[in-house]
Amino acid sequence: MGQQKIYYRPCKCGCGQRIKTTKNTKLYADGHQVENNNLVQNEKRRKLNILNKDLNKTYQIYDKLLGIKSSVRFSKEYLRGKGADLSFNTKTVQIEKKMINCIFDILLINDDEYLTLKRIKK
Ligand SMILES: [Zn+2]
Repeated sequence: MGQQKIYYRPCKCGCGQRIKTTKNTKLYADGHQVENNNLVQNEKRRKLNILNKDLNKTYQIYDKLLGIKSSVRFSKEYLRGKGADLSFNTKTVQIEKKMINCIFDILLINDDEYLTLKRIKK
């Protein structure tokens, strides 16, 4: 057996600690990987929550305006005044050769300065 190679490297979590190891695959100081993964996941979730918050706000506005009606039409100015962000959509569906944006189960039918909100039937 030859001499074992020893690796020195800074812990990947960024704590500043240096690790000494014979394993080339060891990147974290003991216990730091789990803690670091949790922090990374929490940060991802936090960022996603911020994005979803604005999207959900716009959806709630449309949903409330629709209520039990199958479709309603409002000026974009009115919708913006209500706090909707008209740039949001979650998918695009094709209806009669037209591509139409939706937020979840609500179609957003564009008509110059107006937007028709229409509930997609389940
Ligand atoms: Zn560390």
